[in-house]
Amino acid sequence: MNLINVLYFAIAGLITGSYLNVLIYRIPRGIPSSKGFSFCPACGHRLSWADLVPVLSYIVLRARCRYCDAKIHPRYPAVELLTGFCFILLYLKFGISAGTFIYAAVISCLITLSVIDFDNKIIPDRFNIIIGICGLLLLTIPGGVSWYEMLIGMFAVSVPLLVISFFTGGIGEGDVKLFAACGLVLGWKLILLSMFLASVMAAIFGIALMAARKAGRKTEMPFGPFIALAVMICIFAGQNLLDIYLAF
Ligand SMILES: [Zn+2]
Repeated sequence: MNLINVLYFAIAGLITGSYLNVLIYRIPRGIPSSKGFSFCPACGHRLSWADLVPVLSYIVLRARCRYCDAKIHPRYPAVELLTGFCFILLYLKFGISAGTFIYAAVISCLITLSVIDFDNKIIPDRFNIIIGICGLLLLTIPGGVSWYEMLIGMFAVSVPLLVISFFTGGIGEGDVKLFAACGLVLGWKLILLSMFLASVMAAIFGIALMAARKAGRKTEMPFGPFIALAVMICIFAGQNLLDIYLAF
């Protein structure tokens, strides 16, 4: 571990997170993500670089727009911090390697689609496609998941879910595609573990919401953020969790 590198990955993660915020805002609204300057969602004022420094601008501006005083949602710095944190973890786990950059792309997609799914109950296909391509790129790295484990991983969770959703409904098409794409990244063992973790976390969250009387039995809860979190846990600690499980 080299502290300069940790700092470098932290900054790269914060800046990436700042860009993910742009995607989170623009993609559901159909605004092109690559073109144009950043603007305040409340007043439309063009933002200068000083308004766009990850996390710091939020603190300096005291969570308010410099031009219209509208409140800035704490989600913006939260996405930046989470991305920065994940990038540091990636460096600590995989060093400076091709794997680090491929997983960084996967995690960036997972964070972005989580927030979009939470807001809009939809997972845009483009993220599943990018994640799937990243899975295939992982084949170029020696010592990773083999191609047949990936192929089984693509179908291990997605096909049973597809069958269940055919009979009962309630499972989003985007969730099925996300499991297929992440199965390519993780292979069949870890995608099964992801399914288990995501279900447990969603159940705990749902029960907690009902206990707090914020949700009823009919409240529709997006599953994408739980899948994304479970897949991230498996990227960082999946093999450790499997080893612990197998030791019993
Ligand atoms: Zn404003």
